[in-house]
Amino acid sequence: MADAIVVINAGSSSIKFSLFTVRGGDLVPDVRGQIEAISTAPHFVAKDPSGRTVAEKSWGEGTKLGHDGAMEHLRLFLRDELEDQRLVGVGHRVVHGGLDYTAPVHVDARVLKDLERFVPLAPLHQPHNLSPIALLLERMPDLPQVACFDTSFHRTNPEVAQRFALPADLHEAGIRRYGFHGLSYEYIASVLPRFDAKAAAGKTIVLHLGNGSSMCAMQSGRSVASTMGFTAVEGLPMGTRCGSIDPGVILYLMDERGMDARAIERLIYTQSGLLGMSGISSDMRVLLESVDPRAQIALDVYAYRIRRELGSLAAALGGLDALVFTAGIGENSAPIRERVCAGLEWLGLEPDPAVNKAGGPLISAPASRVKAWVIPTNEELMIARHTQRTLAALPRGT
Ligand code: ADP
Repeated sequence: MADAIVVINAGSSSIKFSLFTVRGGDLVPDVRGQIEAISTAPHFVAKDPSGRTVAEKSWGEGTKLGHDGAMEHLRLFLRDELEDQRLVGVGHRVVHGGLDYTAPVHVDARVLKDLERFVPLAPLHQPHNLSPIALLLERMPDLPQVACFDTSFHRTNPEVAQRFALPADLHEAGIRRYGFHGLSYEYIASVLPRFDAKAAAGKTIVLHLGNGSSMCAMQSGRSVASTMGFTAVEGLPMGTRCGSIDPGVILYLMDERGMDARAIERLIYTQSGLLGMSGISSDMRVLLESVDPRAQIALDVYAYRIRRELGSLAAALGGLDALVFTAGIGENSAPIRERVCAGLEWLGLEPDPAVNKAGGPLISAPASRVKAWVIPTNEELMIARHTQRTLAALPRGT
């Protein structure tokens, strides 16, 4: 009977899952899927590796399945799915590991309690990430669970990159730049040697451009700086997040518009970014097809901020060997990649629009000193690998 590992990525309105089978020590992707809109109009779908739907269910408008209901559905689905495999562990994506969790960890009740300390640091994500862990600890206490953190990969950042210019006591109290999307960057770092040995051993900027967007500067595969900070709202404009803005704007909104913390939270997390600027959509595909000038300005600002951060991260690295585009927009949108790469000759990058259109993996001109790549990320596989390794290191009988 083959071993299997399940990966869970629980967000505020959806729970994504991936099942991996362990064959000869390798992790082979099996069924994957998600339950979306878990508290409004829940919909479950599971697909096999070829993309064929193997199971589907809708609960109808207005059904409040919630995280516990969704996890219970998933647990029963996986129980049936795992007829001839043995589930040996579950790996979870957890957004915040603070300063202490520099690597994945086996979660028991004590660790879970400890991870709740970081809820105030990521109130929109951390509680949802932790709730399936709590549920499984209760329902399947013998099943090992591993938490993998979006922050861990950035713990190698030097002090100057982590520090806000605030009084020292606030830094000591944890108000510092943590960085996120670490599992995606770690995955890219793990496969980069196959594409570009020089960049893997040298200086690379990875652009994770999805609904959430950020960039990471890596020296020899280790993070030295990134665009996200104390929360996942800093840095680039995103689908619905504003990215970096003058903190004075927040004070102004409080004083002059009477907005409180929750109203500002809604504004900067869910009503801004591509959606807020365009007034049309947070979806890059929709904006790219639109002729509305507001969509154009949203795209212009998005590409402009990426290019400014590129300069900043290249300066932090003291040079550049390669760019890597990844995530939904980075992997699929040739027009955005073209906008980002155009005019970067000063940095040593010679774009090649034709190869870019073809999708890569190499999208820079053959003679370009700085290479540009498109490499699909795979956070689920990274979590599955971590889970496998963490479980293998556990003392027997744990
Ligand atoms: P998440 O951060 O939720 O994991 P993804 O990495 O899936 O997000 O990225 C979602 C984004 O990718 C959306 O803005 C979507 O429009 C964009 N995207 C997906 N496919 C394409 C495409 N073919 N062209 C342009 N944008 C795309």
